[in-house]
Amino acid sequence: MPELPEVQTVVTGLQQIVGKTILSWRELRSGTVLQHLPSNTSAQHLGIIKTVTRRGKYILITTSTQITVVIHLRMTGRLLMKNKNAPLAKHTQALIQFQDNTCLHFVDPRTFGKIEIYPHDQQPHALQVMGPEPLESAFNPAYLLALTRRRTAPIKNLILNQSVVAGLGNIYVCEALYRARIRPQRTAASLTLPEAKRLYQAIVDLLAAAIAHQGTTFSDYRTIRDQSGNFQQFLRVYHKNTCPEGHIIKIIRQAGRSSFYCPTCQK
Ligand SMILES: [Zn+2]
Repeated sequence: MPELPEVQTVVTGLQQIVGKTILSWRELRSGTVLQHLPSNTSAQHLGIIKTVTRRGKYILITTSTQITVVIHLRMTGRLLMKNKNAPLAKHTQALIQFQDNTCLHFVDPRTFGKIEIYPHDQQPHALQVMGPEPLESAFNPAYLLALTRRRTAPIKNLILNQSVVAGLGNIYVCEALYRARIRPQRTAASLTLPEAKRLYQAIVDLLAAAIAHQGTTFSDYRTIRDQSGNFQQFLRVYHKNTCPEGHIIKIIRQAGRSSFYCPTCQK
């Protein structure tokens, strides 16, 4: 699933649609686009794109008609910029056509992705309860340490929780815990202050590096120009057989996901 660095890369690429006039949108697979507008409002003409931003793993597009388009790529969703008459890729679920003969294609083989259309003053519940952005100042070692107190959940589950910190998923959590030398199954409350500081720094450094390399392509993720990310070559434990020190990686199941960790490097 695309995580913060992948979604940020898509959002950075999408800055090219700011100022474009939307001609129309088409839903090719029913259920891909969900409207939350008052019944007397037509979303067919959405006006001019004003901003494209990210919150957690969500893409937020605002328009001159006071509408916010909220896109979540989920497992396999991709947004691709194409010219008007470009052929449709397999599994294209929706299109936004612009007046300048360009078109944004939403391609999603597994169809878990969603495009939701809201009035500008409303947003999905998930965004209302979302925790701080990890690359902003509200996320810091003191915040992280305070959250872990009296929490019996494993530290990995805690930082995967989007209401604790936004945008992290399985790949970057496994990698951050390796870099911080903390085992994923440790209870959150067992973290010491030095460990919380290491984990904070590992998360921040990892996300910045992954954004600089346009994200990690493990299977489906692509940039809007249909290119792979490059950060997969810097992964140290996720789907690896050995860590960089040559120790055998162990895999356990936690909260329905595979955790990859090094029993030697991580305590
Ligand atoms: Zn190791």
